[in-house]
Amino acid sequence: ASTLDRAEPSAWRDGVVVRGARQNNLKDVALDLPRDSIVVFTGVSGSGKSSLAFGTLFAESQRRYLESVAPYARRLIDQAGVPDVDVVEGLPPAVALQQQRGGGGARSDVATVTTLSSLVRMLYSRAGWYPPGRAMLYAEDFSSNTVQGACPTCHGIGRVYEVTEKSMVPDPSLTIRERAVASWPVAWAGQNQRDILVALGYDVDTPWQDLPKKDRDWILFTEERPSVGVYAGLTPEQTRRAQKQGMEPSYQGTFIGARRYVLDTFANAKSATTKKRASRYLTSELCGTCHGAKIKPEALSVTFEGLDIAAFSHLPLERLAEIARSVTADDWSPAEVAHQDDHVLDAEAREALTQARVAGGGASHDAAPDVRRTPNLSVEKRAAAQRLAADLVTRLQPMIDLGLGYLSLDRTTPTLSGGERQRLRLATQLSSKLFGVVYVLDEPSAGLHPRDLDALIGILHGLKERGNSVFVVEHSLTVIHEADWLVDIGPGAGEQGGRVLYSGTPSGLADVAESETRRYLFPRDDDAPGASSRRSPREPQGWLAFADVTRNNLQGLDVSFPVGCLSAVTGISGSGKSSLVSQAVPALLREHLGSGGAPEPELTGDPETDLLLGDDVDDVRGRVTEAPPGVRRVVVIDQKPIGRTPRSNVATYTGLFDHVRKLYAATDEAKRRGYTAGRFSFNVPGGRCPTCEGEGSVMVELLFLPSIYTPCPDCHGTRYEASTLEVTWHERSVADVLAMSVDEAHAFFDGEGSIHHSLAVLRDVGLGYLRLGQPATELSGGEAQRVKLASELQRASRGDTLYVLDEPTAGLHPADSDRLMRHLQGLADAGNTVVMAELDMRMVAQADHVIDMGPGAGRDGGRVVVAGSPADVAADDNSATAPYLREVIE
Ligand code: ADP
Ligand code: ADP
Ligand code: ZN
Ligand code: ZN
Repeated sequence: ASTLDRAEPSAWRDGVVVRGARQNNLKDVALDLPRDSIVVFTGVSGSGKSSLAFGTLFAESQRRYLESVAPYARRLIDQAGVPDVDVVEGLPPAVALQQQRGGGGARSDVATVTTLSSLVRMLYSRAGWYPPGRAMLYAEDFSSNTVQGACPTCHGIGRVYEVTEKSMVPDPSLTIRERAVASWPVAWAGQNQRDILVALGYDVDTPWQDLPKKDRDWILFTEERPSVGVYAGLTPEQTRRAQKQGMEPSYQGTFIGARRYVLDTFANAKSATTKKRASRYLTSELCGTCHGAKIKPEALSVTFEGLDIAAFSHLPLERLAEIARSVTADDWSPAEVAHQDDHVLDAEAREALTQARVAGGGASHDAAPDVRRTPNLSVEKRAAAQRLAADLVTRLQPMIDLGLGYLSLDRTTPTLSGGERQRLRLATQLSSKLFGVVYVLDEPSAGLHPRDLDALIGILHGLKERGNSVFVVEHSLTVIHEADWLVDIGPGAGEQGGRVLYSGTPSGLADVAESETRRYLFPRDDDAPGASSRRSPREPQGWLAFADVTRNNLQGLDVSFPVGCLSAVTGISGSGKSSLVSQAVPALLREHLGSGGAPEPELTGDPETDLLLGDDVDDVRGRVTEAPPGVRRVVVIDQKPIGRTPRSNVATYTGLFDHVRKLYAATDEAKRRGYTAGRFSFNVPGGRCPTCEGEGSVMVELLFLPSIYTPCPDCHGTRYEASTLEVTWHERSVADVLAMSVDEAHAFFDGEGSIHHSLAVLRDVGLGYLRLGQPATELSGGEAQRVKLASELQRASRGDTLYVLDEPTAGLHPADSDRLMRHLQGLADAGNTVVMAELDMRMVAQADHVIDMGPGAGRDGGRVVVAGSPADVAADDNSATAPYLREVIE
């Protein structure tokens, strides 16, 4: 037996037995899995790994849990859907750690996700250094999420949002009639406000800047809502006369102050566009009381090792661990800083303190005062500090091991990648002391540099050794090699998948001919993948050069990319790949090309988060110093969802549904009934189901779980009214079309020009198994990315585009990665420039040019360690990437 066969699964009576699993594409799967082992599920994208691991095993475990906690849960379970499986036996309670990007809101951060927040607050409450005379505070007093702890000025947000004269009236030389108040609504509603002002006797024809301050202030800031008779269409003079003569006004109008209008619209608008429009007039400033620290001054006056809790939370986890470790040392005594009562550090001082602490790399012992002189430094307090600090070290270490030492406790969750979040939660599980459960993980290696894979593997083993089972969906060959047990699903995706090709110790897979995974895990000379992919590097058609790039940990970086070539940006997690590739480069190039500067941030629906994300994007600095004619357009192909509601899907996103609707509107039956293309849309009223408004599903709020979508009771998920579905084309309704897979539709629409072409491209990127109407919310990040890629590929290639991709192979089976790579190479062959952040060395080796970032993460990264051909980088002694790149090149 090879090293792969190190673990014998425990006796089979202790195993998990699955029979008749038919969830999604699973083909009546029967499977026996060992418990207390690391089980890895492999297979190409769409083969059914998630349907088995999450959709069947985890879902079944959750169902049983719900049943056991509450009788009324039966209703919830019926709505959430029972996994389609005959038998599941021997399944321990399951904990799922999935990759979810975003969410959580601006008030959720690394501290709350990891639950370290309570430990740190306890540390400050019990072991902090209090200014003389200050009573001890409770842990809650240090939280910005509690009434006791939050800063009274900004209510724990750290910023204050206001509307100013300048933000609402950008051009004071205009008159009110010329729309000086830019924040007013457009069209009729805006004119109404003006007419009301006329009726109220205000001057709307004098430049704003020449109006009396009293009038300007009232118009903008009044909270009164006076109602007055409006004479529509009359000049101010005629209005005056009409009022005097007591003429009947056209209607009663109510005035609302401009500031109040913006704030109300921002708070209450249902449409994202309206909200976004209102947000343009909001300015945000650092809170003057807490300077962004979010908590009340009393709490900020308490320090630990010279840092208030906000400065502490702003340090990289790695530094926190160093500080905590020094506290646990036998010879430690607390540091003290000079204090005035109620002294609050301002933002600059906090930064300076942080810098000094970071530079010093730990606690400064020199300033330590005599332990006995002050109650602050009592023996009890010292003991408390040491115990809590020891806990902190234990909790932080796994996060650091998983390559997350560059994160800070105050980093908000919406800014974390899915991989970072999953690894944080994974590290957090280690301290939960749970045993006898099964952890179900979704590609925990995503975003992790090969250097840090060992730590991940160590943690998976740690969970197992504590008496848990670990079920992992994975694509990293290194992690797959570590499995005690391997389940390979396939051979293809969707209808072509859903079978268990192999279940056993990894070495046995070597004999399974139809497995795609086998070709990568046990390459043989006759069918080794990628052997043909070595190619001579392309000649650059000039260089796309950036100078002074400043963003997150990039500080004045100069960097350039060869035009018409494929470049890979590498580096350990936190080194700055994403900051460069998906944030700085597109923003700077868009600005340079004059297509509107930074892209509009995607709205999350949570106003606080949205504002923070908005601020964030403006924060890119630098310039383009060279942009050859070969670059005229930027396209970012990322793994963000193609939509946030079940309303968008593959058919609408790629535009092919427009053509389908026209096809239906052109049928004789549609013409006879007078149905236009709009009738076949589920996004506008007319032909769609009125109950679910064309969503096909309705949202059900669950009490203690995230909300879920269930099929609409009226249209049963078809999205349409019965009458709309009576119109058919080749005997199929428009709902039938949405229910087809891309493959089926490709055959069905044979001969239909552009529809057929779009479908062909979707098949080509490996999405033939997707249903056309599959809601955006059901697509994985990788699938969303490939839908975007397909939409790009279906346009005629212009050869003048910069394509930017952030870890495009995350979530992809090696076979899918190879297919993706062929498309990227094709884009470069057509003269486009492709830049990708990438950690899979098989992919990196195929790039024309490699830029290795580092050398470390966070403050220790953000620089180019080495740039050149894959061979140049592989030969560089300073590069953390080099050893792993060497393995695939040689
Ligand atoms: P993998 O995890 O191997 O990428 P999945 O289990 O996600 O594959 O998908 C297997 C098949 O089931 C695919 O054809 C996919 O489109 C389909 N599928 C996935 N989720 C759903 C869902 N919620 N409803 C219907 N079909 C789904
Ligand atoms: P990589 O892509 O190489 O993993 P990132 O570009 O994501 O690295 O991160 C580089 C540094 O910038 C890290 O210190 C990280 O914490 C910080 N950073 C990244 N994104 C943000 C953000 N949105 N807000 C604050 N800091 C960020
Ligand atoms: Zn404040
Ligand atoms: Zn409906």
